[in-house]
Amino acid sequence: MTVRDEILGANERYAGQFDKGDLRAPPARRFAVVTCMDARLDPAKFLGLAEGDAHVIRNAGGLVTDDALRSLVISHHELGTQEAYVIGHEGCGMIGLENSHMHEQLGPAAEGMDFLGFSDLDEAVRASVRAIEESPLLPDTFRAAGFVYDVGTGRLRPVS
Ligand SMILES: [Zn+2]
Repeated sequence: MTVRDEILGANERYAGQFDKGDLRAPPARRFAVVTCMDARLDPAKFLGLAEGDAHVIRNAGGLVTDDALRSLVISHHELGTQEAYVIGHEGCGMIGLENSHMHEQLGPAAEGMDFLGFSDLDEAVRASVRAIEESPLLPDTFRAAGFVYDVGTGRLRPVS
């Protein structure tokens, strides 16, 4: 059985008991999450989210990049979210990731690309929270807070 078969089978079962076709697009709980793409993180589970509750924006590192900001600006201005939670995690593959390593591995095509690795996890979360707070495209009333998720325990801790 291929992955394609597996996911289509899972979707068939999901759709078979699906009863959420009436949800509205604006997140019911009016918040957004920015977190890492790491497969060990399931924000819906560790934050208690149901379909329709919140926006979840994911990328390598859970960083508030220009593109994550683009999503947050749309999330707030078009879809009514009022706050964002930035969630980094212990054991993130972006900790210590060097551009030089990636450039060496990928060759000239990757030359201009910044892979945005970082050395200090808490500081990376703080910088992302600051990027939200300082964005001229989000109002001061839009709140942001940072957390670190522990992949060993499933627990969040606040980053101040
Ligand atoms: Zn990660």
